[in-house]
Order: sequence, then C-alpha cells, then structure tokens
Amino acid sequence: MNLYYAEGDRQVGPIGKAELQSLIKNKKIDSKTLVWQPGMAEWQALGLFVKGKTQGAKASMQPAPPVQQSLCSECGQAFAEDDMIRFSGVWVCAGCKPIMVQKIKEGVAVSGAMDFAGFWLRFGAWFIDYIILGIASMVVYLPMTFMGVYSADKPGVFLTFQLISTIFNFIIPAVYETWFVSKYAATPGKMACKIKVVLADGGKVNFGRAVGRHFAKYISGLTLGIGYIMAGFDDQKRALHDRICDTRVIKSAEL
Ligand SMILES: [Zn+2]
Repeated sequence: MNLYYAEGDRQVGPIGKAELQSLIKNKKIDSKTLVWQPGMAEWQALGLFVKGKTQGAKASMQPAPPVQQSLCSECGQAFAEDDMIRFSGVWVCAGCKPIMVQKIKEGVAVSGAMDFAGFWLRFGAWFIDYIILGIASMVVYLPMTFMGVYSADKPGVFLTFQLISTIFNFIIPAVYETWFVSKYAATPGKMACKIKVVLADGGKVNFGRAVGRHFAKYISGLTLGIGYIMAGFDDQKRALHDRICDTRVIKSAEL
C-alpha cells in the first residue's frame, strides 16, 4: 500500500501498512486524517478510506441488502451496522476500531458510553461530604465561637471572630472540593459512592475548572436547589453547575 497522509498542509509518504498502524497507535493520525493513494480521485478521511476498502471487497461478492445505518461514535460518519462493531453501547466503524481499542486499553472514557450518575447517588455523595465538612468546621468553629462569645464585651474582637468564621465557612468547603476533584476527580463522598466528575469527553477536570464548578454550585443553590434537581431530569444527568462548567458526573468502578 502506497499511502500518503496529510500533516497540516504537508503531505507525508508513501507509507506501508505497518507504518500506518504504528502512526494510528502513536496517535500521529486518526480517523479524520486525510489520506490519498495513487488511483484515488481525491483525499479522503482515513476512517472513510478504510471503510471503502472493506465495502469494496464485500460489494464484489454479493448484492447489497437494505442496510441499517448508524453513526460512528468516533468520526461521526454514518455506516452500515454490518460494517461496524459495538463497544459498550456505541457503534464504531472499522476505520476507527483500532483507535477505539487503543483508547479502551488506556482507560479513556469512551464518549457516548459514559454511565451518568443520577440524582440520588449524587445526593448520597453530597450528604457524606456534608457530614465530613460539618465535623471539620466544628473543629475550626467551636474554639473560635467560644473565644468570640467570651470576648463579647469587646465588640471589635467579637466581629473579627465572626468575620474569620464566615470566611472559613466559604474557604473550607471550597478547598475541600476543588482539591479533591482536581486531584482525584472525586470528593471523599463521591469516592464512597463510586462516582466522579469528568469533562464532557471523559477527561480530567483541572484545578481552574474545579474552582469554577465549586462556585457555580452557589448558583445551583440560589435557584432554590432547582439547579441540583435538574440532574434528575437531564439526559446526561447534568446539574446546573455541570451545564455551566461542561462537566459530567459518572459512575466509576476505578475509584
Ligand atoms: Zn469512525
């Protein structure tokens, strides 16, 4: 096979089958990479090219029966289901299969195959975190409250303690959630419920987004909790803060 592929606006090749496979494996190219070989009228996406090869071989052997088509979850193209394989609830075309196999080996969450965590599971996780934070804040608050109360005759000191404890009230939950979510994709409550926070494509939530998501929860809370309840009705079980930050909460056996 004398195949050429496009890298930016450069054409690379010719390459053989072994090189092609190693390029796919090393993610240098994917199903959307344009390829061409002598005899082809124009450049074609690799996924379509591979599909053309397998279909061409079939077409010469038998008349085509009416086919049921589905969209490949990787490249988004429509293919006959006969030419596709199924991976945990999604269809993948022949061209994308090696890429998908690679992804699954690496434990990347497959888009469309995410198992979203529903309202009650998330509520359970929230409740566990609520207890943990309650204990943590008591450790910080109680001594401060007592000190504040005992200095009630000095209003300046009292107000200072009130201010500090109010700030802590915001900071402790913020640090707790953003640190755990950006480092482990889950707070201890979520870990206990085997759920985690991920990006729309299953990727990791970074620190900045974890911070944003924490404060977006205030908006979910301000809407009389409707922002939270939305998770029970959304097709991807997104709460309002998940919509704002484009995150998903999924079930995960790995935690
Ligand atoms: Zn595909």
